[in-house]
Amino acid sequence: MPKTDQVLHTLQSRGITKKKDQPKSNIPKYMENNPKMMRFWYKRYKLFSRYDQGIELDAVSWYSVTPEGVAEEIAQRLACDIVVDAFCGCGGNAIQFAKTCRRVIAIDIDANKLEMAKHNAAIYGVADKIEFIHADFLQFASSTRLRADAVFLSPPWGGTNYSREEYDIEKHLLPVGATKMMQYARRISENVGIYLPRSSIIKQVVALAKEKQHREVDMNFLGSSWVAITAYFWDFKF
Ligand code: SAH
Repeated sequence: MPKTDQVLHTLQSRGITKKKDQPKSNIPKYMENNPKMMRFWYKRYKLFSRYDQGIELDAVSWYSVTPEGVAEEIAQRLACDIVVDAFCGCGGNAIQFAKTCRRVIAIDIDANKLEMAKHNAAIYGVADKIEFIHADFLQFASSTRLRADAVFLSPPWGGTNYSREEYDIEKHLLPVGATKMMQYARRISENVGIYLPRSSIIKQVVALAKEKQHREVDMNFLGSSWVAITAYFWDFKF
């Protein structure tokens, strides 16, 4: 074996390869020749450590999924009996909740993403702990009698071009501003976690608490990069 091949072989056998040496054969078509998307491809094992076992993501989910390490942290913080994951997407959070909660109710307005979430949950061996519901969370929360121990909100931030300087959580979150969204969530539980851009206006975040409610804001890191914040509001300590 030539020396360079030998070095590469050794690195590969230890799971250490340079980006350019990583196999590209299974890159989704919409990513190829798109440098903006390729940076998510390079992070794929941070999004899902079991990526190579057949994880499925659509184009939007590559940049909206909560990275696995962060989702693990959030799941530890909201460990409880029944949790509602109101914006399930392709399952980044729901899969980790299934490890810390007895039951997960995972909702998304996009049936295609829910199918992928189900498939991805099966790869992690937790699909049977999650109930997948195809619905608009706002309508669901308005009409359900369900009471849960906690609700987790990871609403869309508005694409990849959201403000890194100052993010207004009342103007830019979808489908409604944060205060309204919290009102819907509180129909199901007083204990709510909300995943937000790190540039969120902190005054607005703190103002989401009801009088006398406990509030905590976590900084979420992926390695040394600060990726997001999660704010928690609760009436009792878990
Ligand atoms: N936490 C998820 C990613 C969520 S991205 C993960 O880690 O995989 C935001 C999701 O909200 C998208 O999947 C989008 O389809 C969904 N969504 C947008 N509006 C919604 C609504 N009104 N009700 C429920 N889901 C909605």
